[in-house]
Amino acid sequence: MVYKALPGTKDILPPEILLWQELEEKAKAIFSSYHYQEIRTPIMEELKLFVRSVGETTDIVEKEMFSFKDRGGREVCLRPEATASCVRAYLQSNLPLSEAGVKFFYLGPMFRAERPQAGRYRQFHQMGVEVLGSTSYLVDAEVISLSIELLHAFGLKSFLLKLNSLGCFEDKKVISEKYREILFRKKEELCLLCQKRMERNVLRVLDCKEGKCKRLIAELPPTPELICKECQKHFQSLQEVLSLLKIDYRIEPHLVRGIDYYTRTVFELVSEELGAQDALAAGGRYDNLIEYLGGPSLGAVGFALGMERIILALKKSCRLNLEEKCLDIFLITLGEEAGKEGFFLMQLLRKKGISIDMDYTEKSLKAKMRRANRLKAKFVLIIGEEEIKQGNYLLREMSSGKQELLRKENITEELCKRLR
Ligand code: AMP
Repeated sequence: MVYKALPGTKDILPPEILLWQELEEKAKAIFSSYHYQEIRTPIMEELKLFVRSVGETTDIVEKEMFSFKDRGGREVCLRPEATASCVRAYLQSNLPLSEAGVKFFYLGPMFRAERPQAGRYRQFHQMGVEVLGSTSYLVDAEVISLSIELLHAFGLKSFLLKLNSLGCFEDKKVISEKYREILFRKKEELCLLCQKRMERNVLRVLDCKEGKCKRLIAELPPTPELICKECQKHFQSLQEVLSLLKIDYRIEPHLVRGIDYYTRTVFELVSEELGAQDALAAGGRYDNLIEYLGGPSLGAVGFALGMERIILALKKSCRLNLEEKCLDIFLITLGEEAGKEGFFLMQLLRKKGISIDMDYTEKSLKAKMRRANRLKAKFVLIIGEEEIKQGNYLLREMSSGKQELLRKENITEELCKRLR
């Protein structure tokens, strides 16, 4: 029997891994130009951290957590997202908040026990940022433009920015009250789950994908009309900056995102090329979370982008270039002595930054040459019994078929010269 990866998880293999590496490198360069520093938090956390921050009545906490008791009887879970972990790490470490606040970026796997489908996994990868310490709408503009810059750098063009404001903590209570009042009158028309949601946490009704609930949601008053003057001003100013940056957006007046901690700005970047799972990235402001998790009262904003979705969108738009990096030299040795001598040389060349590999099998020269071709090696270096005796190695340039003998004493310099 051959074991298989668990449902909703997958191996990332060559050549696709090259794309992951490329995207990660591009992202790191952009994060650095925005002055964000990397944070790596544990994949396992205390369950309560997410119950408290993401919210007890959210789908993530109610249905999607990989939680279990560890051997010491602690309730732990695999992280479903990274915002709560970043805030926890910040509070635990007593990192000083500089005037500009703390700016983190992260990359890594997240876990949600969702029903697997295209673009939806149980282990998926996010890259994201968290800015702790400011309530300025300029920071919202910064993280939104950063997320868009990432998508552009990855080669994605067809996506839409959806934007909304939920107002402050008090406003969310007002919105919830208003919505409950309206929906209560049409309770029977809601799905069974939303009837429960309406009682426990009415904003979660807005996450529902059922047609009949969606129709009722569309009739609710837009959240930006129900928020206080100060939050309206914050939202207005953000929109002005986005316009200044020539960033197009569409206001989605019922966008809440499926997590409880959001306040004021929420946004989503949706692909026009993906189907049902079309959200490439999502985020927003969470001005109460730091205090809620035991810290000072500080504004914060962040977003996360789903790597698998980015790759799917790139595949759909045919902007994928999965060319394997070609090898500088493929070494072919014939016989035991040549094997040892070649291996020694190969280790020296690797230290010089040359990419070189050899075939460790006993196959024929012809078979090894075929392998060099498949690997798209620039050069093949052949060392056989004869070459050792003569003190010459045979170098073949694969594109031209040109062959030459190189003296063993200055082989390293000669190879470096040809590869420069
Ligand atoms: P969220 O943390 O739910 O706001 O999601 C942020 C981003 O993570 C989404 O826009 C998706 O790109 C990605 N994402 C969320 N859940 C999944 C999943 N189950 N599988 C793959 N990507 C996901």
